[in-house]
Amino acid sequence: MNLIIFGPPGAGKGTQSKYLEKKFNLFQLSTGEFLRSEIKKNSDIGKKISSIMSSGSFVSDQIVSDLIENIIKDEKYKNRIIFDGYPRSLAQAENLNILLNKYNQKIGVVLKLSVSLNTIKKRVSERRNLEKRTDDNEEILVKRYETYEKSTEPVIEYYKSLNLLKVIDGERSIDQINKEISDIIGFI
Ligand code: AMP
Repeated sequence: MNLIIFGPPGAGKGTQSKYLEKKFNLFQLSTGEFLRSEIKKNSDIGKKISSIMSSGSFVSDQIVSDLIENIIKDEKYKNRIIFDGYPRSLAQAENLNILLNKYNQKIGVVLKLSVSLNTIKKRVSERRNLEKRTDDNEEILVKRYETYEKSTEPVIEYYKSLNLLKVIDGERSIDQINKEISDIIGFI
């Protein structure tokens, strides 16, 4: 089954996705991680996007769409993708529908990790020391949070209208959240 995980930066999407990968043999497609690895490789794409990502703005739809199509069309990931960081806008959600139809797949469930800005500030300040991401300083974080609310919340509403949405209280411990998500996926 393919699924989407939503949540503001620092909500724990990456942590939960890594757990689900192991438990349900899924594949985490984190667009942010893929893009960061392009920057590390200093590829042509990496050079184009590095300053955009540092400022907390969105990379162009075309770049991200090409990236996710490469995974969706690959048989070894068929029906086992966790979309983490995509779609982030209604245009991207529409594009995802087109790609999933093209490769005869669909979304089974959409998870939203709900977390307050205060909690996120705390978590990201811890992550800053570990991961050294250029977009994890507080000012950029607030911008990314606001962008999430403005652009991504309407996408979440869209999946709610399709009855695919499950909202999860992301303020709790990692283990408690793991358990709730596992129960949801196990049930579907
Ligand atoms: P994330 O790791 O999901 O927080 O993403 C980090 C950054 O990667 C974002 O702030 C954007 O600059 C870029 N990015 C990730 N996913 C997308 C997307 N779906 N569309 C546009 N930009 C993206």
